Amino acid sequence: MASGTQQLIQSRWPWLAASLILTVSLFVATTLGWLWYADQRDSAARELSLDLLWLEQNVTQTLNDNQRLLENWSHDLQTPGSTGDFLALADGLMKENPALIAIDYLDKNGRRVAGLPAYHDRPVRLPPVSDPFVSDAIRRAYSLKKPAYSRVIEQYAPLWVLVVPIADDPSGVVLATYDLDQLLSERVPWWFVQRYDLSLIDRDNKQLSPRDGLTTELSSEVHKLNFGPDNSGLSLRASPHARLHSEGPLLWLSLAVVAFGVLIIWLLRLLQRWLRERQTAQQALAHELHFREAMEQSLVTGLLAFDRDGRIIYVNPALCQMLGLSSQQLIGACAPFVFWPPEHANECQAAHTAMLHGDNPELGRTLNLLDADQCRLSVRLFASPLIGDNSTPNGWMASLYDISAERQAANTARERDELLQHTARLANLAEFASGIAHELNQPLAAIANYSAAADAFLHASPMQTAKVEEAVQRMGDESRRAGKIIHSLRSFIQKRAIRHELRDLTTLLTEPLALLAPLSARLQVAIEVNCADSPVWVECDAVMIEQVIFNLLRNAIEAVAACPGEHAPVQLTITPDQANVILSVTDHGPGIADPDKLFLPFYTTKTEGMGLGLAICRTVIESHGGRLWHQPNPVGGACFQFRLQRLTSEML
Ligand code: ADP
Repeated sequence: MASGTQQLIQSRWPWLAASLILTVSLFVATTLGWLWYADQRDSAARELSLDLLWLEQNVTQTLNDNQRLLENWSHDLQTPGSTGDFLALADGLMKENPALIAIDYLDKNGRRVAGLPAYHDRPVRLPPVSDPFVSDAIRRAYSLKKPAYSRVIEQYAPLWVLVVPIADDPSGVVLATYDLDQLLSERVPWWFVQRYDLSLIDRDNKQLSPRDGLTTELSSEVHKLNFGPDNSGLSLRASPHARLHSEGPLLWLSLAVVAFGVLIIWLLRLLQRWLRERQTAQQALAHELHFREAMEQSLVTGLLAFDRDGRIIYVNPALCQMLGLSSQQLIGACAPFVFWPPEHANECQAAHTAMLHGDNPELGRTLNLLDADQCRLSVRLFASPLIGDNSTPNGWMASLYDISAERQAANTARERDELLQHTARLANLAEFASGIAHELNQPLAAIANYSAAADAFLHASPMQTAKVEEAVQRMGDESRRAGKIIHSLRSFIQKRAIRHELRDLTTLLTEPLALLAPLSARLQVAIEVNCADSPVWVECDAVMIEQVIFNLLRNAIEAVAACPGEHAPVQLTITPDQANVILSVTDHGPGIADPDKLFLPFYTTKTEGMGLGLAICRTVIESHGGRLWHQPNPVGGACFQFRLQRLTSEML
């Protein structure tokens, strides 16, 4: 799983990096563009304010200058005969200011006394002197005793009339009529017109000039300032040409900045998520690697893999340790391998070839190998096909389990058992020797007696042939008995390996019973055998089991004999069940004095005892996979039992 995620992340990585770099570049470029554009706008606005201020000052200055001149000249009009001078001066002023289209001198009744242009009938383009706006201005001028501007009179163009009172008394006025269109075109320089749309508006926000111009909405881009004298109510409105400073690009740039910003945040979050995924995948991979490494290190089983040609392609540390060879020495090697002992080379080669041909027993095969120190070791080898990525076997995987130690342990245990038994037999030899000598004495004495009797019957007259025959027969019987006793002694003291054979347990009673018959007779303790007629099959070493039965019976007889009075017989019972068979020896003796020490070697309560009998019996039974134990006889005495696995007819 971890490697899949890794691949996915690796495939996404260049795509993500490229997108992120591109988006960041676009974001930076757009932001810079936006800043540049905003700065341009700011500086354009600043420039506009300055330009407008300059224009206002220019216009106001001109109007004020004209007003001042007219004030001076009108004052002179009080002097009789000064009209001619006034007209000459007015003419000069009008030539200098083409926007000044008329200058009229009115008497106190509002009649035109003189003026320019000279006319007979007042031209229509000029407002009549009786125009209400003009009359209103005249009234204001008289009352304020200073010049006053009329409201804008809309004729062919917006017109504006300056009323200058001649004296403090209402003795006449001078009217100066301005064409505002003309004033604007005259006073506004060409570069100003190139940059801005200019318009003149009155106090009701009505556009007076240019008349055909569109009334632009007031916005941050539009600048407005007073035009003319303070009380004129006129203002000049200027806005940068739309094509130069439209809102559009700035809006688009702002949108682009926001969009790229959002995209960057999204990409960064994606990156963060992928990095986290990558980190998790890497952690999982590292964990898996550590786990595999730990598993490899802690394996006690040697592992090695072969390719299809039988070449070693992998070994684990346990195998290297087992063989004392490094992985470099092993990987790449072909048969015959250095760890094949020369004396088993053929056997190893056969096993190797069998493995390559797929002949791999489920329970494995045992092989003898050689380690780097030339020590032999036994291994159990299990092999199985090595399945590759495409589910086809592309080699073989073998696991080797070192069983040298087990074998050694088994051999040592067996040898120790045998030695123990041998020692015990030897230890019992002295005890037995006296018993056997006593036993042999009887048949030998009997043989001597029968031979003397036979001799006597031969020399009797008449010769008693039948009695001679009987004596000879008895001699034969006694000598066979002696031979049997000697045979038992030999088999008892001989050191021998354990031989497992299939035996009927009931037949194994014969020998011990025969051997113990004299003792039983001497101590007057009978042995009662309870067993079915059918055979009870066990796999055992017959001599050893006979010895166990012998020991248990002898102990029981001796225990019963130690009690005064009449002796109850010792019971020997064989009880088979489905899987096992139990043999019990029960007596009515004094019972066990110290059950905890019973099976310890050299524990004895008898003066001439060795204390090895029961320890040996238990070892023998356990070496047969069985169990030997003691339990008190409920009615007094002891009961010794052992259990062995029984072989049923299906198993035979
Ligand atoms: P040994 O017979 O040489 O003493 P054993 O190992 O056969 O050695 O027996 C150990 C001791 O166990 C005996 O000395 C005896 O005290 C006790 N023992 C064994 N069998 C019996 C029995 N059937 N009844 C009472 N005590 C027994």
